[in-house]
This record gives sequence, structure tokens and C-alpha cells, in this order.
Amino acid sequence: MDTGKFLEIVDILERDYDSWDAPAKRFEDGYERTPYTILCSTLLSFRSRDEQTLASAKRLFSLAKDPEKMVTFDVEEIREKIYPIGLHHSKARSILSVSIELLERFGGEVPRDYDSLVSIRGIGPKTANIVLENAFGEDVVAVDTHLHRICNLWGYIDTSNPAESQEILMRKVPIERRKGLNRLLVSFGQTICRPSRPLCEECPVSHLCPIDAIEDDG
Ligand code: SF4
Repeated sequence: MDTGKFLEIVDILERDYDSWDAPAKRFEDGYERTPYTILCSTLLSFRSRDEQTLASAKRLFSLAKDPEKMVTFDVEEIREKIYPIGLHHSKARSILSVSIELLERFGGEVPRDYDSLVSIRGIGPKTANIVLENAFGEDVVAVDTHLHRICNLWGYIDTSNPAESQEILMRKVPIERRKGLNRLLVSFGQTICRPSRPLCEECPVSHLCPIDAIEDDG
């Protein structure tokens, strides 16, 4: 699939986006969004469903919404708030250590550039790009498992992991079309093009999808 066809699909999905009841959309509306809360909720979201991440994030932000306040609590207090989310021990440690580093190195502010973000222990490329896009509106493609899966399924990319997908998509997708791609395709992947039992019969881009064409032939 070439970029022209990929963007044709994106245009169609953007028209349908408002009609989808995706957990990712409820997640975005579920808490007060600042660069710091977006960063913390992204750290919480690793290997967790959006519904569970949102519930943990809300409890965490009832404790503290900024690094100054967060560092007044210890790891166990933070862990109790985010429990029962998966990896609650390591996520609590990460939230505390990131908060300390934000205070010590960045005056308590979340930095707005990629290199500074990934220089913070516990922040990897995916988290950095999600923060850059969602907190600062930067023109980056934040790649999660849905984007990685769907873009490979369409044959737009041919990659083996999200990090590789990120690199290729940043090269292929024109800068003015990157913003919002994560939100769009995550919601599409949660509602229609689901990992198991995709709703191909309801899919607005089935006529452009190579998978649907293969299944029709079969
Ligand atoms: S036709 Fe099916 S596999 Fe293809 S994009 Fe739509 S839901 Fe996904």
C-alpha cells in the first residue's frame, strides 16, 4: 500500500471517528490533562487496558497531580493508589523516580523535546512520542500495538515491532498528517479492526483493505 492509499483510508476513518465508542476516547476525557498527568497515565498504560488505566490514573491524581506533591508520598502509598493495575510495583517506582527527576533536572516541568524525555529513566521512545503528541501537539506518530498491527495488516509497512514501525511511519507519513493518527487508529483498532474478530462487514474502508480482499477471494 502506498502513502496515497493510506491517507485515503485515514480520511475515511476521520469522518467516522466521532461515531465510535472507543475506550481510548473515554480515557482522554476521563481526567484533567496536563503534560504531567498525560505522562503519568502513559506510564500507567503499559500492558493495561484503557478502562483499568483510567481507574488507576484517577485514583493516582486524587493523591497528586504534579511532581511536587507526588514526591511527598512513598512508593508504597503510590502503589496502593494504582493497585490493582498490572505491574503496580514497577509503575509506582517509575512514577516516583520520574517525578523526582522532573524536579531535579527540569524544574518540575515535563520537557517538550524528545531527547530530554528519553533521557529520563523510565521514559522510552513510545512514551516520549505519546507525550509529545498528546501534551504538546507535536507532529509525531506515536506507535502502540494497534498502529503497529493495523499498518502492517494494510501492508503500508512491513515491520516486526512498534519501535521499528515508529521509525518507518515517521519517514513515510507526511508531517502535516501525523497529528491525531495514534488516537484515530487506536480507536479504530478497539472498535472495528479489533485484534480478534475484526468487524470487517461494518468497516468503512473494507474496499481498500488487502485483508478483506484476500478473505473475499478465499
Ligand atoms: S476490512 Fe477488516 S481487516 Fe480490513 S481494516 Fe477493515 S476491519 Fe480491519
